[in-house]
Amino acid sequence: MSSPKRVFLGLFLLFTVLLILLLVFLGYFFARPGMPVFQYAILFFLIILAVMAATSLSSLALAACFLLGGSPSPVLNRLVKKILIFLFPLIVQLGKLLHIDQEKVQGSFIMVNNQLVAIENQNISPQALLVLLPHCLQDEDCPHKITQDPYNCQRCGSCPIDKLLSVVENWQVNVQVATGGTLARKAVQIYHPECVLAVACERDLSSGIVDSYPLPVWGVLNERPMGPCRNTRVSLSTLEEKLKEILGKQRLKA
Ligand code: SF4
Repeated sequence: MSSPKRVFLGLFLLFTVLLILLLVFLGYFFARPGMPVFQYAILFFLIILAVMAATSLSSLALAACFLLGGSPSPVLNRLVKKILIFLFPLIVQLGKLLHIDQEKVQGSFIMVNNQLVAIENQNISPQALLVLLPHCLQDEDCPHKITQDPYNCQRCGSCPIDKLLSVVENWQVNVQVATGGTLARKAVQIYHPECVLAVACERDLSSGIVDSYPLPVWGVLNERPMGPCRNTRVSLSTLEEKLKEILGKQRLKA
């Protein structure tokens, strides 16, 4: 398992251990005599914590098993993904408490998500895939509006949009450029994809993955040589590799 994935899974493990410790701590108070007022409240929390700890522990074990190449059942894989997505905000908060760079945690979550998505989404047809590109890839001085129609790009080659359009044309997949979540959601409503391949920063990708659930989203991180949200880049070879992985035998031409 690659080390970026370990950041998220390590925090997930720590979260589970903390849940178990809290369970033991509350269990100790519950077992003590002479607390009639709080007894039912403690029992209520004990039950909730026990369910959360058991769910968390089993999801972690299954996720580790799937990520290490175990043969996953699609139902269990979906369940694990659902639980990871549900717990993601808590894991990010735990990372914050431990002063772990948020982008590191979000990037790690994206990698774990990508692998779980890949398990259950293979050989998707090109028409069922939507490639979502962030608007910040466009040259900030370009006068052409590409959020309505990416093909308004005049293909001058001054920014990555030109080559990205060549790639998506080559693979015959749908593409949309979005400035944020609202346009991204609109694109999903228009194309009704079975899955999305999204390029964005750690923050936007991780929140997009959570917001879009149950629609599977593969994430590819952009590069920000000029800082965030400005003249960003994306590795064409990484994008092509991802398309190859997603479309598999459904590839029409490339
Ligand atoms: S490649 Fe397209 S989007 Fe980029 S600067 Fe040229 S015309 Fe504008």
